[in-house]
Amino acid sequence: MSEDYDWGDPYVAGKVAEYYARQRLREAEGRARRLRKKAKACGAKTRSGAPCRAKGLGRGGRCKNHGGGSTGPKTEAGRKRIAEGTRKYWQARRSGLVT
Ligand SMILES: [Zn+2]
Repeated sequence: MSEDYDWGDPYVAGKVAEYYARQRLREAEGRARRLRKKAKACGAKTRSGAPCRAKGLGRGGRCKNHGGGSTGPKTEAGRKRIAEGTRKYWQARRSGLVT
């Protein structure tokens, strides 16, 4: 029979570890695929009357054209504030204060 494995054999153990690593990878891929599928259509009423078919990922499940996403800072002061905050955050992360 082909089931006569020596489970103490490092080679066999390596193969088993490899098998489970692949299994985990497959499961992670499946989860990622299911997450992608969950992005439902925006569904907002369009000018033609039909529901919008774009992926609704933003606020309220709407697409970027129907009130979904932030359009980001507009003014120079706002942009500076965002940049400064990002810099502070990464400094803190690099110094290990925030994980
Ligand atoms: Zn839309």
